Amino acid sequence: MSEKKPVVTVDLGGTNLRVALVENDKVINRIMHPTPRGAEAIVGLIAKQALEFANKDVIGIAIAAPGTASPKMDRLTKAPNLPELNNYPMAAEITEKTKLHCIVENDANVYAMGETFYGAAKGLETVVVYTLGTGVGGGIILNGKLWRGVNGAAAEIGHISIDENGHLCGCGARGCLETYASATAMARLAKEYGSKATTAREAFELANLGDKAAQQAFVRAGSALGIAIAGMLNTLNPQAVVIGGGGSSAYPLLKEEIEKQLKVRAFPAALENFKLMKCTLGNDAALLGGAALLYESL
Ligand SMILES: [Zn+2]
Repeated sequence: MSEKKPVVTVDLGGTNLRVALVENDKVINRIMHPTPRGAEAIVGLIAKQALEFANKDVIGIAIAAPGTASPKMDRLTKAPNLPELNNYPMAAEITEKTKLHCIVENDANVYAMGETFYGAAKGLETVVVYTLGTGVGGGIILNGKLWRGVNGAAAEIGHISIDENGHLCGCGARGCLETYASATAMARLAKEYGSKATTAREAFELANLGDKAAQQAFVRAGSALGIAIAGMLNTLNPQAVVIGGGGSSAYPLLKEEIEKQLKVRAFPAALENFKLMKCTLGNDAALLGGAALLYESL
């Protein structure tokens, strides 16, 4: 591990593409572009920007991308939001253009690496991170290593079912955690309980002003999270869980209900010295996490 060597990191989203230079555990240069359409255009822009940022010490490029990454971390094998990248040999193309080592990993996994190595859980080694956004994703770090699963499909922790007869999830199953705890779900729940909020942000603001229906939505989201986390604690017994993503701004409204469920459902030994925490890095988690991932992969 050459920890302090600079790395170019990329946070590739369906709408925007962010490129950064990370040096000495800090983002020291960054830029954002709209994500172009087409695999060649995306790869071309990443390579061009990486070369602009790279200095002679840069040891590689790490890309956080929306989808399932191959076990070799050289491409996305499933990219519903950027279908042009399905099985496209991204890493090889970028290496050819830049002569730099390149890896591609699922964005929630990279985010989890960021919060574990540089953020809320810094100093811990076995951590599970939940990201609450449009969907619910996450990442699992075991003994300081990202757990990718046999086929790169691990940590789809938003798709643990809380209720077999629950709301239909985008994945095709019913009652997934995502249908309670994503920002989309929080807005839907608030409406179902009779609040006039139309977005998660509005529901959050109304809940803080005392709107009972909006408050109920966060109680429901929190209990679903608590049920899912308790099952995971009984499975993996990690040191900490970090709640991240845009929806984590609702953490103060979710925390009590999560803890209530953990007390009832998690085994006492799994709760010993266990820490529930909120993310601290915001948008930088994926950019810093890319550096941690690249150091780990060398
Ligand atoms: Zn699902």
